[in-house]
Amino acid sequence: MIGSSFNKVTVSLSALCHNYHLLRRRAGENVKLLAMVKADAYGHGMIKVARELSKVGCESFGVAELCEAINLREAGIKGEIFVFLGFPIADAACFFDYNLTPIIFDIESAEVLSSKAVMRNQEIRVHVKVDCGMTRLGIFPEDFESFSAELAMLPGIVLAGVASHFPRADEADSDNTIEQFERFLRILPYALTKDDLVRHTANSGAILNFPETCCEMARAGIALYGYYPDGVAGIAAEKKEKLQPVMSFSSQVLQVKIVPAGVGVSYGHCFITSKPTRLAVLPVGYEDGLSRSLSNKAEVLIGGKRARIRGRVCMNLCMVDVTDIEGVTVGDEVIFLGRQGKDCISSDEIAGWMDSISYEVLCLFGNNNERKYIE
Ligand SMILES: *Cc1c(COP(=O)(O)O)cnc(C)c1O
Repeated sequence: MIGSSFNKVTVSLSALCHNYHLLRRRAGENVKLLAMVKADAYGHGMIKVARELSKVGCESFGVAELCEAINLREAGIKGEIFVFLGFPIADAACFFDYNLTPIIFDIESAEVLSSKAVMRNQEIRVHVKVDCGMTRLGIFPEDFESFSAELAMLPGIVLAGVASHFPRADEADSDNTIEQFERFLRILPYALTKDDLVRHTANSGAILNFPETCCEMARAGIALYGYYPDGVAGIAAEKKEKLQPVMSFSSQVLQVKIVPAGVGVSYGHCFITSKPTRLAVLPVGYEDGLSRSLSNKAEVLIGGKRARIRGRVCMNLCMVDVTDIEGVTVGDEVIFLGRQGKDCISSDEIAGWMDSISYEVLCLFGNNNERKYIE
């Protein structure tokens, strides 16, 4: 394509579907799998991902904000779309217009939804978020009984589900998840509803490590995209079929130069060559999601071999040391994330260099570059 970037994020739709089916089997075939597609599907492209997962039977999607949910509907996505982070009161009508499901955690939101429901002579199904120990969004378990009673008084509001979120489900040997799950189960008898309650609290970590917490529905995020929430430890501990990484990120060599010993590289000269050095200049910088904290740390693959970043990562450029890689020339493929030859750089490895988690790396690369979809 004319005018396209050197930098490309490639998304494997077959890997995505492999992960979806694997997670369905782990959660239990009777459990609904809600695909978390917030943050533009963790950098993989919300609409493309939702369309692909719809084709293989996914009927529930989760986003952070109302605007994302509206985008999904306008793109023709069917099924139930959950908005997790509340909504501006003025936008309450959108839940009816677009048939969306709100996750609520305050009575004011329920009241405004109720008044819209009455005006339209409709009902709206809501899910309540309970904070059983994450200490983030949600009402406290001890307030659930009165909250449920207040909801029951509001015309047009149907309590359809109760949700919670685990802070430590990625730790297979922690007691925290089961303790929190028991707290969740203890409040459920207080739910006043004519509907069959949909209970959901499992994230990727819980689906993989505590499948007994999946209830009627489980919310898969990172694992859909091929990564274990506990990173390399999760891959090592995997005894069954493995998740497959969905994203790769590549670029190409822009220039090759040889410099003598004692030369400073990039802004601040925070790398000085100790010997004659061959450098490849690459058109990737922090604007492309390559965090500046990767300066002097990250490695890339060129010709199937590893080359280390030298000096600071700039806004649109970085330099890597290719002294030990024969025959590197302008235009050669460079892999930042993914496989080349026998070697592979994972999002977990990059996250390790950044002191972060795979989630952030995927968002950074995916949401700052052109995406290409392959089977
Ligand atoms: C993001 C999110 C998830 C998915 O978490 P993963 O660890 O990526 O599986 C599940 N539930 C809620 C409420 C979330 O915000």
